[in-house]
Amino acid sequence: MTWFAELTSVQAAALLDGPRRPVLLLPVGAIEPHGPHAPLSTDPLISVGMCERAVRRLAADPDVRALILPPLPYGVTDYAAAFAGALGIGARTLHALVVDVCVSAINQGFRWLVVVNNHFEPEHVRVLRDAVGAVEERTGVRIGYLDLLRRRNAERLTEEFRSASCHAGQYETSLVLADRPDLVDTAAMAALAPLRVDMVAAMAQGRRDFVAMGMTQAYCGAPAAATAAEGDATFETLTDLLVEIIRDTT
Ligand SMILES: [Zn+2]
Repeated sequence: MTWFAELTSVQAAALLDGPRRPVLLLPVGAIEPHGPHAPLSTDPLISVGMCERAVRRLAADPDVRALILPPLPYGVTDYAAAFAGALGIGARTLHALVVDVCVSAINQGFRWLVVVNNHFEPEHVRVLRDAVGAVEERTGVRIGYLDLLRRRNAERLTEEFRSASCHAGQYETSLVLADRPDLVDTAAMAALAPLRVDMVAAMAQGRRDFVAMGMTQAYCGAPAAATAAEGDATFETLTDLLVEIIRDTT
């Protein structure tokens, strides 16, 4: 069993009485344009993909039992608003959703939780960090947040990820190719020239959307270089990081 919501209530109750600590993973993303080639759901797809792998890897673990909560696919997506398909929610909505779901789980006795995010717009990340803190404030329970932007995590990921010129480029497109190649328009992907945009520097200069950053097709990085093999390898690293924080949280 991988998905928490597919349990019966009886099975959920048994989790709390079982010998293994149940840890619930909350995948978070955004519905947001990812170039002309990758799906709007790229970010939640990556979050779910790494959660599924972590569940598989811990399948026989004697101490921990991981399950995935229904994902929160919506996030704060103001940067992509100029492109069709950017369906965002406000910061307050995201904060309330994350806090309410986590507090509800903790009140039910599921006190081991990890938030898994793959959408890195600064406001979205800030809200998630705040929400994790608010859960702890309200419940006294410390929940996990896998923050891939932390240097010690980022340095284990690919060069493109670390370069900050990374939206629907080689890094993300490879991950989609690994799990859902049917969702990538590979002809469009192959035609995209590498585009170097330092998103962190552009944001620091006050550029508030992809177009102002020079990302006129809602991507940067090198999507044409993406491969499923790189995606598989990156998923392994992401799963290592997730399992480490699961162990740390439980
Ligand atoms: Zn993305």
